[in-house]
Amino acid sequence: MHVEKLFPKLGAFRGETTRLHPRPGRPDASVSSVGGPLLWPADEPWPVCTEPHKRSRGYRVADIRRSRRLLADAWARDRPTAEEGALLTELGRRHRVPDVTDTDPIPLVALAQVYRRDVPGLLPGPDGCDLLQVLWCPFEAHGPTRYGLAPHVRWRHSDQVSVPLHAPPQPTVVGFGGSVAEPCVLHPEQVVTYPDAGSLPARLGKKIDAWDEARELEEAEHHDELVTYQHDLSIPHGCRVGGFPSWHTTDFYPMNCEACAAPMVLLLTVHSREWDGAHGSWMPTEEWDVAEHLRDRCPTKLEIGRDGLLNIFACPTEPGHPHRYNMQ
Ligand SMILES: [Zn+2]
Ligand SMILES: [Zn+2]
Repeated sequence: MHVEKLFPKLGAFRGETTRLHPRPGRPDASVSSVGGPLLWPADEPWPVCTEPHKRSRGYRVADIRRSRRLLADAWARDRPTAEEGALLTELGRRHRVPDVTDTDPIPLVALAQVYRRDVPGLLPGPDGCDLLQVLWCPFEAHGPTRYGLAPHVRWRHSDQVSVPLHAPPQPTVVGFGGSVAEPCVLHPEQVVTYPDAGSLPARLGKKIDAWDEARELEEAEHHDELVTYQHDLSIPHGCRVGGFPSWHTTDFYPMNCEACAAPMVLLLTVHSREWDGAHGSWMPTEEWDVAEHLRDRCPTKLEIGRDGLLNIFACPTEPGHPHRYNMQ
């Protein structure tokens, strides 16, 4: 469907985003990845979280990885046996780490790294840095709500890492299984995208919203699946670089740079789902060849709220200005 034929004024807002299409694999530090090892200088301290919060109980990373492997094998074969079910229960148990206070530094875990050479749409980093790295604290326990996530961004010149770190420190336990990303290789694809209707000029945004509402009513009446601007025609699901942020769980909120007040641009989106289950509009075409029960909408195994995503914003005038984050 050519959305610009329906709404010609949208043409002026057409943008581009690069879907990263993570797939389970064995990335090393020399390639872009979600959940893969980061290219890190051996002599640079690994970032830690020292924000006060409970960190003495949680899940073991090895248990999380083992249960994912077990589940994948079981479903590829048939379903988990009773014996496997018992093992899964055991692996899903939380453990206590003795003698850990609420401010002891815990190592952050790697979320993603993106080289500019792999994703031409990636904005330049400060001082021409070519490698973007994102980590986070593996506990949902930060900020004023005490439930927030705490992402952390690093930029580096990849050619200046002479002695790379081989085994980064790992937290003994993590607050939730979805904080640990499965190692995925990326298959970047540039696609056309349009802004969230809520961030368009009011007249155009209202026209689009009205069209979407009419479609949804029609869908409910006829039990038909109709595409809408919001779900299918504007902002793709999944991990991606650049383009427009979606505001599907909150209203549009202007993200301005804290250093210079410039309206910020979307740098990277880490999304827990690669496509939406109901319509499947953003499902990669390759997936049609996969048996339905084996299609994996969540190859990274990340959980960000409920079906949620993390948006990282950058200042367009000075890449060295602090990043801002938004969860949807
Ligand atoms: Zn933390
Ligand atoms: Zn700025």
